[in-house]
Amino acid sequence: MIKKLLLILIAVVSVSAGFAQKIQSPDEFLGYKLGDQFTPHYRIVDYFKYVAQASKNVKLQQFGTTNEGRPLLAMFIASDENIGRLEEIRHNNLRLAGIEKGTAITNMPVITWLSYNVHGNEPASSEAAMWTLFDMVDPANATTKAWLKNSVVVIDPCLNPDGRDRYVHFYNSVRGEAPDANPTSREHVEPWPGGRINHFYFDLNRDWAWQTQKETQARVGLFNQWLPEVHVDYHEQGYNSPYYFAPAAEPYHKDITQWQRDFQVTIGKNNAKYFDQNGWMYFTKQEFDLLYPSYGDTYPLYNGSIGMTYEQGGISAGLAVLTRSGDTLTFAQRISHHHTTGLSTVEIASANAQKLLDEFKKFYDNSRTNPPGDYKTYVIKNDNNNNVNALAQMLGRNGIQYGFGLANKSITGYDYFTGKTEQYNVGPNDLVINAYQPKAVLLHVLLEPKTFIADSNTYDITAWALPYAYGLKAYGVKESFKPANPTWSIAKPQQQVSSHAYAYVATWQSINDVKFLTALLKKQIKVRYSEKPFEAAGKKFAPGSLLITRASNDRADFDQVVTQTAAALNEGLVPLSSGFVDKGSDLGSDAIRYIRQPRVMLMAGEGVNAEAMGEVWHLFEQQLGYPVTLVKYRDLGRTRLSDFDVVIFPDGNYEDFPSDKLQNWIREGGKLIAIENAVALLADKKGFALKKKEEKKEDKDKAEAKEKETIKIYADRDRDAIRSMIPGAIFKLNLDNTHPLGFGMPNYYYSLKLNDDIYDLLSNEDGWNVGTIKKNSYVSGFAGVQSKLKINNGLLLGVQSMGRGSVIYMVDDPLFRSFWENGKLLFSNAVFMVGQ
Ligand SMILES: [Zn+2]
Repeated sequence: MIKKLLLILIAVVSVSAGFAQKIQSPDEFLGYKLGDQFTPHYRIVDYFKYVAQASKNVKLQQFGTTNEGRPLLAMFIASDENIGRLEEIRHNNLRLAGIEKGTAITNMPVITWLSYNVHGNEPASSEAAMWTLFDMVDPANATTKAWLKNSVVVIDPCLNPDGRDRYVHFYNSVRGEAPDANPTSREHVEPWPGGRINHFYFDLNRDWAWQTQKETQARVGLFNQWLPEVHVDYHEQGYNSPYYFAPAAEPYHKDITQWQRDFQVTIGKNNAKYFDQNGWMYFTKQEFDLLYPSYGDTYPLYNGSIGMTYEQGGISAGLAVLTRSGDTLTFAQRISHHHTTGLSTVEIASANAQKLLDEFKKFYDNSRTNPPGDYKTYVIKNDNNNNVNALAQMLGRNGIQYGFGLANKSITGYDYFTGKTEQYNVGPNDLVINAYQPKAVLLHVLLEPKTFIADSNTYDITAWALPYAYGLKAYGVKESFKPANPTWSIAKPQQQVSSHAYAYVATWQSINDVKFLTALLKKQIKVRYSEKPFEAAGKKFAPGSLLITRASNDRADFDQVVTQTAAALNEGLVPLSSGFVDKGSDLGSDAIRYIRQPRVMLMAGEGVNAEAMGEVWHLFEQQLGYPVTLVKYRDLGRTRLSDFDVVIFPDGNYEDFPSDKLQNWIREGGKLIAIENAVALLADKKGFALKKKEEKKEDKDKAEAKEKETIKIYADRDRDAIRSMIPGAIFKLNLDNTHPLGFGMPNYYYSLKLNDDIYDLLSNEDGWNVGTIKKNSYVSGFAGVQSKLKINNGLLLGVQSMGRGSVIYMVDDPLFRSFWENGKLLFSNAVFMVGQ
């Protein structure tokens, strides 16, 4: 004990001796060699805080916290000359981009940003981050000191601390004295849900542009305040793969410039030099493409940076694992590779600093004067105030400038929904985005109706155009128009308190309206909806409109609670003085349905797709603020179902499905919501009316004939597989919006299809075909030849009546990555509106 105290004393003295000549390495600070064990996140934080005290060449910034309360950190490292003028450098960089006004100075350092451990169970990189930081600040290191003369280096040691600790705690809790390299040992098999994802099971490396998660919002917020010239996103892949670094694989989005392509090669060759010297294996130009805009490589690229992914082989590898080639891969080796590429990247950026800055400026100059794409103005029609507002906020978070209305009221443009060029009028509340702006490239990538794909063999979804995701009518216009009003705030809706109100009416067409409903339900206010359109108080109301009547809400604070709740959510409210309506059904008729407050159960645990489950969990908890009970699927057998009104089965693999128990509960009034693979599980099962669609014989023949035209070539085997593949493409559904599942939506719905599942229409006795697909309903993104033929004439959204309850089939994921905004209302309809 005394010895320990003495050690602590020595440590304190050496720190307080001011900027000591020597800074402790991670090994010295942690008390073990990097790679000997996994460092929990709080110890990484400790080391960064220690260096922030010990070195005068750094500035540590906590820019956010995770859902579980862990700090998100960025360490800025600069020379003696630059560390005191970081703010000046940052502003100068934004001036280079034309985001801030004024001329940038010329002798500016290049900014290289290294992001580690976005996937929690790819843990080698955060350890490498400590080592790289040490080398950058070590007073004895003349090499890095030279690089810092013209560089600012930013190190984010861990993008996903919650996921990292989930993995590290798991590994530490099951390891033995010595690591077991046998791949089947339990230390190489993570339990559900695994450490890759964040607290709500979101993949943070799919979230850069959408920023649905707390961590992403904080990080991309900081990123956009700096806009580094070089950005590396650190990963690990399967442990049998050698190291991967830039240049990336095709397809590249066509807006990625020749310079950005070329410099990836320059960086790759510098990394290769060190790997060659050490005899380490690596590959480039394969597997990791540059298309989907929400990655840690593409998002920086679309923001003028050299964005790259680096991948070490290492997922599930623990401290040591035996690879296919019979070698033992150790944690220390993995760390060392990531450390090498970090330094190599800083080195090559420093060697090309001026060129990087020049090209960065050129990228933004081009954006402002010659934006990519056919359309120089985008107009989003404001048919849905809340959805337009949600879209505007998302654009704003990405630094995309927009405004509202046009002086030139009638213009011609490409209609996203009809695919035709048409003349139309622009209203004062329509969202108008002019393409001549600094973020023109990102804008184009997010808004172009069809993503240009040179090569279909990609890693991720190929369609994301925002008007489809938000369900908003949009036009692409070839001429450049500036919006009439640079800013806009939704006109505050009127909130008339009327002690004489017989009832209040609110619209039902966005997630904001759902929030309003759940807020009222939580305050024990009873709410109804109208199944049919009606007219009252001189206004027209669509099916699904919420009715809050004084009847059933016999309380003194009724008007106050309703109007205040509406005001807090900016929700429009119309008071009615009578239940006698001008047109349609009166408020006492049976077309007015009472919304029972549903008690909701969500399947969790083994067998459930964690990300799909997380999307539902996040929606209820973080977006709607509505209670949901998470039950492990394997506990379903002994769960009292009568405690619940709704059970949600997200995508998953449900073995030993308790079909009889669930059907009995449904007949008693329960509502089962099945999504994606859960639908496939119910199809063709006794009691469930859904049938898998048989492929039409002529289609099958056609596909087979095509197949026979060519002899299969072994080298083309990857290409062959993609004929029956859909890496996320958009299809247009016909929506029966008179059914509660379609309330508040137009009579169509753009669905993001991730597979080619499709079902036969339900018979009229069995239920309702709410979302159906006809021929030629493909809209955008890549879909294989065979898949395109298959997705024809069938059902994608259906509701089966069973006794007093119902089963809702959702073949595609309406909440995909939480960025498919329009799907949130669809899903909420399933929970709150269907079967009331
Ligand atoms: Zn990864």
